[in-house]
Amino acid sequence: MKTIATIVGARPQFIKVAPVSKALAATGTVREVLIHTGQHHDAGMSDVFFEELGIAAPDHHLGIHGGGHGAMTGAMLQQIEPVLQELKPDRVLIYGDTNSTLAGALVAAKLHIPVAHVEAGLRSFNRAMPEEINRIVADQLSDILFASTETAVENLKREGIAAERIFAVGDVMYDAALQFADVAARRGELLTKLGIVPKGYVLATIHRAENTDDLARLTAIVSALETVAAKLPVVLPLHPRTQARMKAAGLAFDKVRTVPPVGYLDMVALESQASLIATDSGGVQKEAFFYRVPCVTLRDETEWVELVDLGWNRLVSPATSNVAEAILAAIGSAGKDAQPYGDGRSSEAIARVLAG
Ligand code: UDP
Repeated sequence: MKTIATIVGARPQFIKVAPVSKALAATGTVREVLIHTGQHHDAGMSDVFFEELGIAAPDHHLGIHGGGHGAMTGAMLQQIEPVLQELKPDRVLIYGDTNSTLAGALVAAKLHIPVAHVEAGLRSFNRAMPEEINRIVADQLSDILFASTETAVENLKREGIAAERIFAVGDVMYDAALQFADVAARRGELLTKLGIVPKGYVLATIHRAENTDDLARLTAIVSALETVAAKLPVVLPLHPRTQARMKAAGLAFDKVRTVPPVGYLDMVALESQASLIATDSGGVQKEAFFYRVPCVTLRDETEWVELVDLGWNRLVSPATSNVAEAILAAIGSAGKDAQPYGDGRSSEAIARVLAG
């Protein structure tokens, strides 16, 4: 039996872990130990995903959240180290680009434990993003790099990562989308509760620091979504960071229908039936494509460039564009069909490499 220590802490990581943990368990030769840093910790940002996606309860919950990047990452380094020293896993498995990813990679590398990184090689080429720093460091410290796309493979090679360490496995979020789509499709209660009908609303999510922590961008986004909401319903599950920044800035939604963060199944129900998705989330951009819903990405760049190339996604900078006009213009648009994220069996490919 090989022991793999998985380190997660934030919402998108729980969704990625779900299919991979299942695939690891199915190998019969891997024991997975789950370490939850606590970065996202409450019922709506964490517990609901474990319940809905059938993820085993964390073996270690470190309860670290809040504070600046330094305080949070520092506490993670301090608390992950003794857990790994005692556990002595054969490998550490990390996901995505959060502070939990960075801390997991650093502790493991310093303890000489090989690191495997799921969603390696993503780049925005914008080092002002905290996620970009986390990705670059995590990839440099990883021994096995699981890339979701061909673009990610190329990015890694350009940074000098040896080709034999890179595995083009596809995207585990696509696996999750396929595994849970049927269940989610049967969930209509939230739409009914919100008084919206399929293909009759825009779904929006905002949480990237570059938007929430920049008053001009945040104000432009709030005002654009209000303009759209005057024409057709806009539903927005409000991320805690966005809520805090809006409150501090004295900004509030009036026509936009905000709801607390929703669970994955409700989110998929909302995404798959929207006329359009406006977002700054990485995962939500991809999910829009999985359900063939046009997407407007409220950023200056995206890591998921194939979505823009295929015509399913448009980049609309809140700093320079007429955001409301761009959202309304994209409704009803469609892109080309393609399969840039694998065949929905990425988790099995990852499990085969890790068990092998
Ligand atoms: N998500 C969710 N509920 C919400 C908002 C997002 O379940 O209220 C899911 C979404 O479906 C996707 C993931 O969270 O699977 C994306 O996470 P997030 O936007 O927080 O992070 P990012 O993908 O930008 O790193």
